[in-house]
Amino acid sequence: MSNKWVYLFSEVDRAEKYIGGDWENLRGLLGGKGANLAEMTRLNVPVPPGFTITTEACNAFLTAGETFPEGMWDQVRQAVKDIEKQSAKKFGDPANPLLFSCRSGARFSMPGMMDTILNIGLNDQTAAGLLELTGNGHFVYDSFRRLIQMFGSVVMGIPDDVFEEKMTAYRSRAGVKTDAELTAADLKGLTQDFKQIFRRYTTLDFPADPYQQLKMATEAVFKSWNGKRAVDYRNASNIPHDLGTAVNIVTMVFGNLGDDSATGVALTRNGTTGENKIEGDYLINAQGEDVVAGIRQTNELSQLEQEMPDIYDEFVKTVKQLEAHYRDMQDVEFTVERGKLWMLQTRNGKRTAQAAVRIAVEMAEEKLIARQEAVLRVTPEQVDFFLHPQFEREAKSAAKANGTMLGTGLNVSPGAAVGMVAFDADIAEMWAKEEGKEVIMVRPETKPDDVHGMLAARGILTSRGGRTSHAALVARQFGKPAVVGLSALNIDIKKRLMRINNDIIREGDWISIDGTSGEVFGGRLETTMPDIMDPWLIKLLSWADSFRRIGVRTNADNPDDAALARNCGAEGIGLCRTEHMFFEPRRLPYLHKMIMTDLPIERRDALDALLPFQRDDFAGLFRAMDGLPVIARLIDPPLHEFLPDHMALTHDLTDLKIRLKHADTLEKVDALLQEINEKTRVLKRVETMRESNPMLGLRGVRLGIQIPELTTMQVRAIFEAACMVTKEGVEVHPEIMIPLTSHVNELKVQRDILEVEAKKVMREQSIEIDYKFGTMIEVPRAALTAHQLAEHADFFSFGTNDLTQTTFGMSRDDAESGFLMRYMRTGILPENPFTTIDRDGVGQLMAIAVEKARSVNPGLECGICGEHAGDPKSISLCHEIGLTYVSCSPYRIPVARLSAAQAALLDKKNPRGGAK
Ligand code: PEP
Ligand code: MG
Repeated sequence: MSNKWVYLFSEVDRAEKYIGGDWENLRGLLGGKGANLAEMTRLNVPVPPGFTITTEACNAFLTAGETFPEGMWDQVRQAVKDIEKQSAKKFGDPANPLLFSCRSGARFSMPGMMDTILNIGLNDQTAAGLLELTGNGHFVYDSFRRLIQMFGSVVMGIPDDVFEEKMTAYRSRAGVKTDAELTAADLKGLTQDFKQIFRRYTTLDFPADPYQQLKMATEAVFKSWNGKRAVDYRNASNIPHDLGTAVNIVTMVFGNLGDDSATGVALTRNGTTGENKIEGDYLINAQGEDVVAGIRQTNELSQLEQEMPDIYDEFVKTVKQLEAHYRDMQDVEFTVERGKLWMLQTRNGKRTAQAAVRIAVEMAEEKLIARQEAVLRVTPEQVDFFLHPQFEREAKSAAKANGTMLGTGLNVSPGAAVGMVAFDADIAEMWAKEEGKEVIMVRPETKPDDVHGMLAARGILTSRGGRTSHAALVARQFGKPAVVGLSALNIDIKKRLMRINNDIIREGDWISIDGTSGEVFGGRLETTMPDIMDPWLIKLLSWADSFRRIGVRTNADNPDDAALARNCGAEGIGLCRTEHMFFEPRRLPYLHKMIMTDLPIERRDALDALLPFQRDDFAGLFRAMDGLPVIARLIDPPLHEFLPDHMALTHDLTDLKIRLKHADTLEKVDALLQEINEKTRVLKRVETMRESNPMLGLRGVRLGIQIPELTTMQVRAIFEAACMVTKEGVEVHPEIMIPLTSHVNELKVQRDILEVEAKKVMREQSIEIDYKFGTMIEVPRAALTAHQLAEHADFFSFGTNDLTQTTFGMSRDDAESGFLMRYMRTGILPENPFTTIDRDGVGQLMAIAVEKARSVNPGLECGICGEHAGDPKSISLCHEIGLTYVSCSPYRIPVARLSAAQAALLDKKNPRGGAK
């Protein structure tokens, strides 16, 4: 017996048994849409009878050079017979014709990516029969012309514009605005004209045989899996290319049979804000595509309550049932045919980041899902989106006051976007990708063919369409700010300009769109980072905190950043780069003085002058972190980095010497000579300190060993500050960290010197401070000898920026601006190792170091403070190897909190179900 390629919706149990009872596998076999239609049938939700041709059939078709697998077509014919029995209609029978829709449905929803053909089964005879049955010529010929149009464009590749032009001609001849106003006679004429177009473009007659229509439609859906727009979408969404699509053949029900019929789409919760309120659009007397295409102005779903109260009640009950069953917000399509409700589709709805967070939290509070699930449902990218730029309030007010606000549309995907107007997807993509421009794509409405331009653009603006339009769905999914349905917007494609009321904007002009409010402005508005006070996000992250096992600290060098980080949930400072404190203009001269002199007494003076600055900095950090640990990393970069650049000095000197030649007064000569002497002295010093490879030169602990007075001053500043704020009643836990250690003896030598100073300060101040001494692990030797270092350290922190550089033997700055991009493009490296920890190399060194260190010093605090500490995948690795905390920049903290919780919840070895 041949494989089973076709399942009736009512055969869901059988399909489930075949794939082993797993819902995800069922989606894999029947596609998301097919699995959900079958599931709805099982739940007794009113679904028109139908069947699904499996993804396995699609894959077999594509591998066999586009021929149906053996037995498939017979199974399709049998399924049609079964549906005929269920519906008491007959496919191709003029007396009572059964019509089908043919729709694709892959495992993961790809909105608008694949093709749909409606009204399969219509030909001259069945159309006449249907006319007899319904007495509604408008409906019959509207359906027929749609079939020819969809079949023509999807199956035969006839450009859609050709059909649209013909329709426009009919409308203008009839003097009407919409297709709905055309008469039955018009539509009949249109059907004939469409057949002619079909013949002209294909040299074939439109196929009259219903089975032939069904066959060709199925083939087209299968083939569309490999179409450009589907491939683009999968690439952008990381969907594998070998899944294939299923085909759903569903009995047609009609929303365009008169005023007791309707069609619509809805989300069970607000897809933009997440509010628990059904939102949707519908049209009376229309077919489904009219609603999503955004061609006719739709009605808000709430209006249906007045227009069709019973249907509305049944609809609300049904979608609530579906939401409870799937335990997620649903995106549904429905049709009302002569007073009877039919559900045509349900799937988990796309949502903005804000909505994702609110829905997850509220569903957990409604006990629809567990808190763990709520935490797992929100992606780190969605949390990250909360930290995306918004327009400055003042900038918006100013724009409104000076008249550069252009209008307000629907706010369908939040965030601020600024860019140059591009009127088509190809230009948007070219400008963004090849010319590095910031682009806003502006269209009347978007179609699946536009997705590549939408992905390349910063934001999307359309003049038509509603909250569930293609533009809105795609924008939300990819986190692109979008405003749709700006009805005052008129695009003149030929002249490459748009008009909004009296304003004219040309292609290439700058505009700013606010997807959060729906406002559109001319020109470039200033953006700002929002704060993260969203109450649902705060709650979600507090739940995440109860599940994670790894701490989250911040990298901060000043009290403002430290305070911001605490607001974001930091549990301490994991890295303060103390050298950053020297860069302030008031301090730099003292540092220069210290670097320039060879005299110990002068150096001492300079350091003494720097001490109070550093002390105040640390005091500020301790106050901001009241009671939480603060890791102060002693100076790391080579000193010449604080001196002027060698090249700039040489240029300046040449310039001064030329000016000297032309100096016309003695005073000028004197002044210039003095300047030349000073610059020459600095240049000489720069030259003596210059290293061919500073990254591997006199830096980190080596610098502290070379100039112990410098690090001793830093330790004194830390301890004086600690004593000072302790006296103020602030609790302090300083941790002194030594950078770039590669040999245990470096650590021993430094620790001895520095602890002497620490103790001295505590004695002077008569205060005992609870402190730790530790080191960074930034070179492979340190990782491999971690057991030796651990004998002399209270804590470790992995500096994965340097550890990656030293493990790969590549400098980040050179690599990222050079060969690394090629490595990633060609797949030599799967990811940028400076963004995500290289698990096999750097990750392994970290695991070895933790294990070795804790074998001699159990419970040793081991953290990470490189850039990777804010990267979700790297955080998962840190969890796995048992790090104590991750330390990242303040804005990454929410992402780190969520990622750490997800790593704990997904940890198979040690799942964390309960609270911390
Ligand atoms: C590191 O190397 O990962 C680190 C945090 O130190 P820096 O980036 O300051 O070299
Ligand atoms: Mg480093």
